[in-house]
Amino acid sequence: MANKKGKSSVSELCIRPDAWAVMLEHSRSAYPEECCGAMLGQDREVREAVPLTNSFAGSRRNRYEIRPEELLAATRAARDRGLRILGIYHSHPGRDAHFSAADLKNSCPWYCFLVLSMRRGEFHHAACWRPNTAQTAAEEIGYRLLEA
Ligand SMILES: [Zn+2]
Repeated sequence: MANKKGKSSVSELCIRPDAWAVMLEHSRSAYPEECCGAMLGQDREVREAVPLTNSFAGSRRNRYEIRPEELLAATRAARDRGLRILGIYHSHPGRDAHFSAADLKNSCPWYCFLVLSMRRGEFHHAACWRPNTAQTAAEEIGYRLLEA
């Protein structure tokens, strides 16, 4: 595919197929609860997805929470392999891939957030979001699946 130098392609997240497969499988196996994990890579390319524990104490059907120490461990493990955490993924069982108020509140502006909408246990659609620095709004950015 030719390089497009449009604004959207600059902020577009590229996802390798094996990382995508890990996120889909994690979302399926956690259904009807939300799953969450880290997206590792370089620049705009997600090379690996690392499932993390949804440690939210209440109903995990519509919330997720990542323990800071688990995220820190994932950050270190990524760095050891020359990668960094580009963002966080989580699933929305039975709901659209919008970025909820709780998602916004629990986000951070230096990550992008991929949300996978699941219907009846299967993948339906996804959207990628980047919060502003004040975490008052999130902008939808594009994502693209890379060829195997
Ligand atoms: Zn959410």
